[in-house]
Order: sequence, then C-alpha cells, then structure tokens
Amino acid sequence: MDQPEIYLSFAAELRTFLAPRNRHGHVAVAHDGTSSLGHLIQSLGVPIPEIGALVVEGRVVAHSHRPAGGETISVEAPRRPQELPINPPRFLLDVHLGTLARRMRLIGVDTAYDNDRDDPALVVQANAERRVLLTQDRGLLCRRNLWLGAHVRGTDPDAQLQDILERFAPPLAPWTRCTSCNGELAPAGKDEVEHLLRPGTSRNYDTYGRCTDCGRVYWRGAHSRQLEAIVETATRTVSAYR
Ligand SMILES: [Zn+2]
Repeated sequence: MDQPEIYLSFAAELRTFLAPRNRHGHVAVAHDGTSSLGHLIQSLGVPIPEIGALVVEGRVVAHSHRPAGGETISVEAPRRPQELPINPPRFLLDVHLGTLARRMRLIGVDTAYDNDRDDPALVVQANAERRVLLTQDRGLLCRRNLWLGAHVRGTDPDAQLQDILERFAPPLAPWTRCTSCNGELAPAGKDEVEHLLRPGTSRNYDTYGRCTDCGRVYWRGAHSRQLEAIVETATRTVSAYR
C-alpha cells in the first residue's frame, strides 16, 4: 500500500549531505507516521547535529515531531554562531584533525585530541567530558548515543578553523594553552626554564610560559610570525561574530 509523502526543503548548506539525486534540495519522501522527523532527515544523509531549525508552515517543530502526510518542512542549518549548552565550549577532535587541534589550542580553545582514538572511544570521551565532537566523518556524527557534535567544513586547516570560529564564535585566549597537549600555560621565570633552552633562545627572550601538564616551555619569538597571523585572523573573525 502506498504510504503518504511528506516534502522536505533543505537549506543550501545541507545539500552536500544528501544523495546526488536529492541535491537540488527538495525531497519527497514516503513516511510511515512513526519515525521522528530528526531520524527521517538523518536517514536521508544529514546527521542530526547538522540539523538546525525545522519549520512547518512558519512554526518551529522539534526533532521528535511526527509529520503528517502532505506536510512540507523546511530544514535549516544550525544558526551561526550556534549556542552550546557548555560555556566556555570544549571540543574533541577526531584523529584526522590534528593540525586543526593545534591551531585551536594556539588561540586558547579547550581542545582534546589524540591520534589513536577509534570511533566508539571518541563518543565515550565526548559524552563523559561534555565536549563537542568535531569531525568530517558523517557516520561518526550519526552515532545514536553521541551527545553533541559538528561537521567541520573545509579541506585545509585554515578553512577548517575559520568554519569552527564562525560556527561557534568561542571566546579566545591566545597563547594560554599548550599546543602539544592542551594543558594550560603558567608564566615561568627565565631562571626556572633556562636549563631547558638552547643558549640562543635564552639570550634573546625574557618572557616564558610553561605547560602545567607536560612541562613544555614556550616563548614568543620571531619564529612565530605564522602563528601570530593565525591568532590575528582568528581574533578578527570571532570579534565580528560576537
Ligand atoms: Zn603540554
């Protein structure tokens, strides 16, 4: 027997998740009346964390809404900046996003990353530590028990960082975190760290920070022009969004 159809109209940003035949963004789908709207949309390829407002005839409905036959639903992307239930936000990055992780730490965003976590371990850690899981793996975002995640747009780390800053506009605190382990830096006197430095470094610099977790020593030097540029761009982006 024929099931009634519902009609979904997807925001342009979401169409990349759809099967090629649906990328024009207007999809008619048979509906059995029992699945929730959120799961129905995810079954078409858009992970639930990428679904923003769902609008039926001018009215916003919940993901749990069970549409009636003939209904037309607009599926929006998450609003930018997206509000998060944790403040300041914390993130967890999957194994493919190591460069992005270092950049997020550089600008002071709490970013967990380990290069040998499998998918179930990532979900467990994200849930336990209330971190937003960032990934480009759609299957990972579709995992049923993941509390909160986001798909990262962009193929290079510059574009990926820009995407995350525009999406969440997190408060920044550049030069306060260890890019290697995510630990917080504490100011360190030259006499405390001198034995760990090459002679040229201790001659040229007087301001140091030391990671309170792994002990790594940091200093601001001429070698960090590229990093300065990343910090400047990030600060500009976030201040435009806040
Ligand atoms: Zn560290």
